[in-house]
Amino acid sequence: MGKLMNAKEYEESLRKLNLKVYLFGKRITNVVDDPIIRPSMNAVAATYEFAHKPEYEDIMTAKSHLTGKKINRFTHIHQSVDDLVKKSKMGRLLGSLTACCFQRCVGMDAMNALSITTHAIDAKHGTDYNQRFLKFLAYVQENDLVCDGAMTDPKGDRGLPPHKQADPDMFLHVVKEQADGIVVRGSKAHQTGAVNSHEIIVMPTMSMREEDKDYAVAFALPSDTEGITYILGRQSCDTRKLEGTTFDRGNMYYGGHEALVVFDHVFVPWERVFMYKEYDFTTQLVESFGAYHRQSYACKVGVGDVLIGAAQTVAEYNGAEKASHIKDKIVEMNHLNETLFCGCIACAAEGHQEASGTYLVDVLLANVHKQNVTRFPYEIARLAQDIAGGLMVTLPSEADFKSPEIGKWIEKYYKTKEGVCTEDRMRILRLIENITMGTAAVGYLTESMHGAGSPQAQRIMIGRLIDMKQKQKAAKFLCGIDKE
Ligand SMILES: Cc1cc2nc3c(=O)[nH]c(=O)nc-3n(C[C@H](O)[C@H](O)[C@H](O)COP(=O)(O)OP(=O)(O)OC[C@H]3O[C@@H](n4cnc5c(N)ncnc54)[C@H](O)[C@@H]3O)c2cc1C
Ligand code: SF4
Repeated sequence: MGKLMNAKEYEESLRKLNLKVYLFGKRITNVVDDPIIRPSMNAVAATYEFAHKPEYEDIMTAKSHLTGKKINRFTHIHQSVDDLVKKSKMGRLLGSLTACCFQRCVGMDAMNALSITTHAIDAKHGTDYNQRFLKFLAYVQENDLVCDGAMTDPKGDRGLPPHKQADPDMFLHVVKEQADGIVVRGSKAHQTGAVNSHEIIVMPTMSMREEDKDYAVAFALPSDTEGITYILGRQSCDTRKLEGTTFDRGNMYYGGHEALVVFDHVFVPWERVFMYKEYDFTTQLVESFGAYHRQSYACKVGVGDVLIGAAQTVAEYNGAEKASHIKDKIVEMNHLNETLFCGCIACAAEGHQEASGTYLVDVLLANVHKQNVTRFPYEIARLAQDIAGGLMVTLPSEADFKSPEIGKWIEKYYKTKEGVCTEDRMRILRLIENITMGTAAVGYLTESMHGAGSPQAQRIMIGRLIDMKQKQKAAKFLCGIDKE
């Protein structure tokens, strides 16, 4: 076995990092124990914890194709269709156990995409990127590391390519070439789990042309490399975590985070560079990463499981669970959620082997799945809010509920039926609030919309990948226009 870390060891490994992290205008020196960040650390720690549970071992671990050792699936390069299917199941499992973004998929998807593209660049240009990448991968697997997958640039004026931007740093780029490596400058936006990561894997954000070759760069660095700064993003209701209360947070244990990651003249040694100006391979890297990450939105199915469970619970607490329209709405929520599951299983089941040996999902089906993800969680959330009732947004605070003076009024007036405790009703409503409009809505809703590419990105891929000629041929034959 490599070093299959447990949750405690993961936490301790983060304490050794010297990250430069800012939140609310101040530098955070103890990232691991910061009350705003801590729930997101707990969620990544769950990916370690569940790998040690016998009942989840088959889903959460894999056999390294490099060493034959047992490794965490998040560090694995998919070797079969079965691996791809298990990846989808792992996403649902962890989503259903944490009800948030557990952050570790972006790095896994970046590594799988790089395993394909480095091999392809070497085949055309005679470079040695694949060997460099495999050395990095062996290090990640051996030490069971978390990698941040950093693709998205701030992009400045969306109508202009990188080299035409008024500020050349709107896309991360090479500023200097040295005998021992390169120096880069720029930033990556919306970085999921950035300050919970040991390594950061940088990739170009979109297809590049020759004029933009300085922007066609991919590499990996330790997350505390000199010159890297993290500026945490705010989440709706985030400061509830500072109030010292418990259930007002909604999710008592877990959360996610994103950050703007700034690279201010950062040195990358050659052995960590996996693409250097080969702009002709940017499309392949972006599209394969995109397909893997669109599959990864199996996580939303797991979060949907929790939201459906919460909606059913609140219906029961309210005494409305037998109403036919409530039953129908719960069926509809399940229908939408399981349809999402069909998509992420289907793109995995239809996967294929690339020249590097890595298995890639069916790209068309992965895009169709992600297109559904941009819609269905919003409808599931709408139905959950319908079932929850208005109290979800007018509920007094936990502190008022616990007040010796006025708590009795909340207890009295927010009681529903015999056997239901008012505090439990408040707790389940706070969880629905958390997932549909609080900190977890970042992952369940807006990330479903934009993460792994905004909806239009999938529509472009669907339009390109559909075999329209075959469809027309069948139609024309069946109505007699064509005889064969
Ligand atoms: C919660 C969250 C987590 C994320 N995590 C990560 C991560 O870990 N790693 C990572 O690399 N990225 C991450 N992303 C980034 C994600 O991939 C981007 O948000 C996505 O690609 C959209 O880019 P944008 O946010 O800059 O939106 P914009 O590019 O500003 O898009 C806004 C709208 O404008 C449209 N648009 C933009 N450009 C054009 C154009 N040229 N022509 C026509 N229409 C255009 C889009 O289709 C969209 O409708 C995350 C995003 C979110 C929200
Ligand atoms: S949003 Fe989902 S796929 Fe993306 S990192 Fe979080 S858990 Fe993984």
